[in-house]
Amino acid sequence: IQEKLNALKENTHNTVNSLLDKMALELAERVDAKIESGAAIGLLEGIPFGIKDVYMVQGTYTTASSQLLKNYKSAYTATAIQKLLDAGAIPLVKENCDSFGHGSSSENTIFGAVKNAINPNLVGGGSSGGSAVNVAKDYTVFSIGGDTGGSIRQPAGYNNVYGLKPTYGRISRFGLMAYASSTDCVGPIAKSIEDIRIVVNVMSGRDIKDQTTYESKIITDGSIAKNQVKTVGYFKNFIESDAINPEIKEDFLNTLETIKEKGIQVKALDFFDSDTLVSTYYTLAMAETASNLSRLDGTNYGNRIEGENLKDTYSITRSKNFSEETKRRIVGGNQVLSQGFSDEIYLKGLNLRDQIATNFENDFKEVDIILSPVTPNTPPIIGDSLKEPLAMYLSDAYTVGFSLGQLPTLTAPQGTSTGIQITAAKDNDEKVLQFANFLN
Ligand code: GLN
Repeated sequence: IQEKLNALKENTHNTVNSLLDKMALELAERVDAKIESGAAIGLLEGIPFGIKDVYMVQGTYTTASSQLLKNYKSAYTATAIQKLLDAGAIPLVKENCDSFGHGSSSENTIFGAVKNAINPNLVGGGSSGGSAVNVAKDYTVFSIGGDTGGSIRQPAGYNNVYGLKPTYGRISRFGLMAYASSTDCVGPIAKSIEDIRIVVNVMSGRDIKDQTTYESKIITDGSIAKNQVKTVGYFKNFIESDAINPEIKEDFLNTLETIKEKGIQVKALDFFDSDTLVSTYYTLAMAETASNLSRLDGTNYGNRIEGENLKDTYSITRSKNFSEETKRRIVGGNQVLSQGFSDEIYLKGLNLRDQIATNFENDFKEVDIILSPVTPNTPPIIGDSLKEPLAMYLSDAYTVGFSLGQLPTLTAPQGTSTGIQITAAKDNDEKVLQFANFLN
């Protein structure tokens, strides 16, 4: 534990918002004592892990990488994290990320851009960039990210590790700082499918504090050992798009060939175009985040900046403490929710989301799994993506659709590019891991 803490402290990838050294060393001593006494030990006893800095862990700083919450300490612990602690895992670090999950590069943060584990001139990916890089560099055995529209899958792809966004509702969101509540998911990043399986099992389950949770079945190692998948689909338009990087395309087509050689049927499917997917997702995500972040006005928590009156205080606190990207989303979100716009924009977004969900339901009558690249592009150079927000939104084209569908979806390393995304119907998380094992 001490070695890992040192490695985290000295690392130059900007992955650390705060080290949980005191807590980690105390817990490590307790594990030692337990082992010496011969007492039964938990499933994850002594395993060091990282936590994206959007999860409440009582007594620790939870900043969401924002100026507004720079000095905020959690009053309670998130359900998912508590379950890991109960299983004996040891938290080492609150990890750098895009502020409030807003971004695809982990540059939108007050703690400095996260540097890619493979090439530090490139972005770490986002928004769970610190988490993916920590796993890739072996600073943590696994890390808990958060995925609203791709934030676990995309950095996992950029850093060549596994990252699972489970079915929406499988893991409690209680204690995860809300970005867009209807697609926010808790999930693990790790170096092996087995680690993903164990960690997701520990965190899953119904929670009275999150009414969208459901009771899921444990994913056993036996159940993912043997492939049952017979038919795989892929979206033609993703692969034929002009926007896809040639290396990513080639890796993907090679994977399809390998699968066919192994006797699996591959079907080309029609899907919505990238512009529709990205605009639907951003319309809804901005609306939800504008609503969720309205509570951060300096009254109950956060860095308050006093104005001449209460209205001024709200306004100055929010203007000075939110990043440009977060403000863009709050303004956009309030606009699509406002009278005169909501019918035309927000309701249209909801309607498209239903159509996307229906499309998936029909697809999964024909195929067991949908495969897709994780991103159309390789990781940009640090500094570039902040200049062009629209290009950054479009880089989410392959991940946001599955989020709107609330489906289980995993990034697995593939070839030399940014990973392959394996998606199944709702509550078929097991099938996703099973197929990843098969591809391995
Ligand atoms: N890049 C997407 C966004 O900025 C997804 C982020 C996330 O999943 N938190 O909304």
